[in-house]
Order: sequence, then structure tokens, then C-alpha cells
Amino acid sequence: MKIISINAGSSSLKFTLFNMDDESVIASGLFERIGMDGSIYSIKYNGEKISEEIAMESHTMAVQILLDKLSALSIIQSLDEIKGVGHRIVQGVDRYFESVLVTDKVIQDIDEIKDFAPLHNPGALKGILAFREVLPDVPMVCVFDTAFHQTMEPETYLYPIPYHWYSDYGVRKYGFHGTSHKYITSCVKDLLNREDFKLISCHIGNGGSICAIKNMKCVDTSMGFTPLAGIMMGTRSGDVDPSIIPYLMEKEGKNASEILDDLNKASGVLGLSECSNDLRDIVKACEEGNEKALLAKNKYVRRIVDYIAQYYVLLGGVDIIVFTAGVGENNVTVRREICEKLSCLGIKIDLDANNVRGKEIMISSPDSSIPVYVIPTDEELMIARDTLKFVNR
Ligand code: AMP
Repeated sequence: MKIISINAGSSSLKFTLFNMDDESVIASGLFERIGMDGSIYSIKYNGEKISEEIAMESHTMAVQILLDKLSALSIIQSLDEIKGVGHRIVQGVDRYFESVLVTDKVIQDIDEIKDFAPLHNPGALKGILAFREVLPDVPMVCVFDTAFHQTMEPETYLYPIPYHWYSDYGVRKYGFHGTSHKYITSCVKDLLNREDFKLISCHIGNGGSICAIKNMKCVDTSMGFTPLAGIMMGTRSGDVDPSIIPYLMEKEGKNASEILDDLNKASGVLGLSECSNDLRDIVKACEEGNEKALLAKNKYVRRIVDYIAQYYVLLGGVDIIVFTAGVGENNVTVRREICEKLSCLGIKIDLDANNVRGKEIMISSPDSSIPVYVIPTDEELMIARDTLKFVNR
């Protein structure tokens, strides 16, 4: 059975077509600059990649082109083969604690909560409406990045601010990357062959979040009201004192949204190192003696260690720690330094095992108090799995 996972943004649409009989990827690709000059798509299938510049005025046109190409390339023989479409939705606030079948009410909700994710939800909605127009009879499912975190207790998700900011305006911690943390949780369940485990899932990519999971459920996570909170990221600051915002508005002559833009796009690893947001560049620059790169890397590692230590205490001990996403799956140095800083908890890294990129492996030594793993994440597959559940109903 074929299912498509979709991640639509305001001017882009990423897709992965799965054969859910064996969960293999049949094709994947990206449609970019939708509604702009120079719109372009690329499709990967059978080890090949094709790319073409073609006018795409709307998401509907992009979806139409996508389906035409899948047929023209004989990737599918008929549109009837596509049995479900799963959409990644960044923000579902507290209205959605699991994936749902797309209905008019769901569409209205996603539109209503757009203020909580102005950069993401409107784009995702365009993707939903486009597929609805082109494939009206195919079931569609929304998979929310916030849903996995809906099991947090009020003591965890509430900020110590006037209560009515929460009750009137919904200001609370929501958490993100839930689809990835849920995927890692399901992998750990398979690995340990049980559900009663305590896991710290470290999704560290350009964006990043740490999640404390007990018995398959999220107990706490590092991102907050928006994905700006928590650990230091590629270009995002993570947690900072909010008083710096009005202070910097005055000093820099900027408004609040310009400062927020700087906290989102010019901070984190890029901001401190003043050279790159990419940990590969940073590690290389450290080896060449670049002091700001060293400062950025040390701070980056420190923030992650702080959260792992916090969640170790919160969970009352941990059965397994997992690294995932771009940095977690590939950056040998960052993983080693994090584990070394956690040695007081009895964590011991196996340097040979750790010298690996992009594959599932235990990187701790047999006498480590807590096993540490690398597990590549697969948010697209998680979206397709959730979609399949509804199709099978
Ligand atoms: P993501 O947002 O999950 O795609 O992660 C992006 C980040 O992963 C990049 O900024 C890199 O720092 C890191 N990364 C990706 N591939 C590699 C690699 N092969 N080696 C080291 N780091 C990598």
C-alpha cells in the first residue's frame, strides 16, 4: 500500500512516497519557490534524481505536477494506488494530542491556531487544501509535532507567569519535534522489547530538542511555547533571559520582532562562533584553533548536558539515552564530548563504536551505567505509519 508523507511550508512542499508493505521509500522530493519566480522541483527514485524548473503558481499546481510526474516516471501506474496522505503540522496546541483524520473542523482549527505558529501552520494548510483539491477521495491525516508532548503535566508545561496568560492566551510550553521523539520511542520499544522504560531522546540537528520519556510518554521537553526555547541550536539561542529583548531593542534600534528574528536566525552556534551554524564547520574550526568556534561548541555541548542531567533527575534515573537528527546521528565529536561530561553519572563511551555516522548502534561501552545509542530518526515514516492506521480503519 502506498502512502505519501507531506511537509509543506509557505513556498515549499517536501514529499516521501512509501510502500507501507515493507516501509520502503519509493520516491522522495522537494518542490521549492512555489508562487515565486524560479520555482523548481526535484524527485529522487531508483537511485536517480531528476530536477526541473517549472512554473508553480500555487501548492495545488505543485501537487498536480508531483502526481503527473509520479505517473509519467511510472513510479505509480494510477492515482488510485495512493491510499493515504499524511501531513506534518508543527503546532496543534492543546486541541490535538494525537494524529487525526483531516475534516473541515480540523482545517478550521489549523487556521485558527496559526498565531501560535505563523511561520509553519499556514504553509501546512496550503498543502492540505492542495491535496484535498487534487485527490478529494483519498483519506488525509494530520500528524502534529506537538501531539507527543501533550502528556506533560501542568506543573511542567505552565510557565511561572500570570496564570491568565495561559488561560486567556494559551501561553505555555508545547514542545516540538514530537514526531521524531515518538519515532525514537517506538524504536527503543523494539530494541528493549518492553514499554516500561525511561528514555532521554536527544534530537540534535540544526534545530534541536531533548525529551524525557517514561513508559512511552513525554514527561518534559526542552522546546517551549515556540521552537526557540531550550538547548542552543544552529542559529537559535535556546533559553535566554527575556529581559534582553527590550534592552536590545533600545541599544540596536530594532523592534521586538527584529530582535526575535536575531534570536531565531543569528544566534546559537552561528551567533557565538561568528563563522557557521553547521557543527561540521565548527568542529573543523576548533581543530584549527578558532577560539570563538571552541566557545560555541563548548556552550552547545554544555546546554545539552544540562538538559540531560536535569531529565536524569526528573525521571529518577534513565534506562537509555538516544542521539538522533543531523548532529546526533553524525557528529562523533559532539557525542563524545556530551558523554564525557556525563561521566559522573557512570556513562562511558566506546570511542570505536562512536566513530560512526547515520546508523543505529550502541556507542557506550558495556560497563556504562546507561546504554547510549545513535538511532537515525525518520519523521516521514512516522507520519506515514500514523496515516496508515487511519487508512486501515
Ligand atoms: P538536521 O537539521 O537534522 O538536518 O541537522 C543538520 C546538522 O547536522 C548540520 O548543521 C550539521 O551540523 C549536522 N550534520 C549533518 N550531516 C553531518 C555529517 N555527515 N557529519 C557531521 N555533522 C553532520
